[in-house]
Amino acid sequence: MDKKNIDWSHLGFGYIKTDKRYVSNYTEGAWDEGALIEDDMITMSECACVLQYSQTIFEGLKAYTTENGKTVVFRPDLNAERLASSAKRMEMPVFPEERFIDAVEQVVRANEAYVPPYGTGATLYIRPYMFGINPVIGVKPADDFQFRVFATPVGPYFKGGAKPITIKVSDFDRAAPHGTGFIKAGLNYAMSLHAIVTAHKEGFDENMYLDAGTRTKVEETGGANFLFVTKDNKVVTPKSNSILPSITRRSLMTVAKEYLGLEVEEREVFFDEVKDFAECGLCGTAAVISPVGKIYDHGKEICFPAGMEKMGPVTQKLYDTLTGIQMGRIEDKFGWVREIK
Ligand SMILES: *Cc1c(COP(=O)(O)O)cnc(C)c1O
Repeated sequence: MDKKNIDWSHLGFGYIKTDKRYVSNYTEGAWDEGALIEDDMITMSECACVLQYSQTIFEGLKAYTTENGKTVVFRPDLNAERLASSAKRMEMPVFPEERFIDAVEQVVRANEAYVPPYGTGATLYIRPYMFGINPVIGVKPADDFQFRVFATPVGPYFKGGAKPITIKVSDFDRAAPHGTGFIKAGLNYAMSLHAIVTAHKEGFDENMYLDAGTRTKVEETGGANFLFVTKDNKVVTPKSNSILPSITRRSLMTVAKEYLGLEVEEREVFFDEVKDFAECGLCGTAAVISPVGKIYDHGKEICFPAGMEKMGPVTQKLYDTLTGIQMGRIEDKFGWVREIK
């Protein structure tokens, strides 16, 4: 397969239009058979539910080339399952999980020329999403929906190695205790935009959100879950009903336990204990793990021992093992990597 003439290792994380996308429409209570199309534009009513009341959910995963030249995606079954859970909470119809995986595969196959070659650090980012498309003015869910999947090539998240970032404890809240924090919905991002712009203006890379109810427990950032490592090498991740269940974080916890033989804990993490951890990282599909070097909390700083130049040793091992499994350099014991044939 001839690849597009793209400078893969200098790509940023931006949208580039690719050749084909998948579309399926839900009308009169049923999904149509779906198809790959070329048109990247969407025409809808000015009063579409998604435009007025933000009835929209999404997923994110990556396709890439392994060491032995296979095109693969990572655990798409979990994205399918998570979109279904988001749909239920948002009063949207579930797009059947096996059809979700098939749609992702069709889009990757149709845009194979945009799947970056092995070793470039770049990937093909895949964005499945669904939204309410018919006109709705009185507040209620839409009746008609569109499910789409597009793909866009993105560059290596860290150019020249993963440097630890500095985050701040936010004064804003991300998710309410009985709200929508556990689903992947655009609305959770809309309300985080002001908080992230504010953090960037103040010179921070990301926000750490605490639980909105008590402001004593660690939740997550705008788009990544936390992983901590204790001084005796236990891997700890916060448990809460308002955290989005990151597939990367769940995979890293399994890697910690089953590949590295480390003790793992998913439990409430009080902000007060964060200063006692040895390492801190953010996990998500885009970066796998971004090491956190420093946390700023209203005039006080928590500095992790690994410093601002490199990842902590356990974080590095987790990162190397998971990316090794993804790239086909380490045995895929649990069948996480799915080949696109
Ligand atoms: C998507 C997302 C993550 C990361 O999930 P992955 O499945 O690992 O990509 C974490 N937090 C939020 C709020 C998200 O939307």
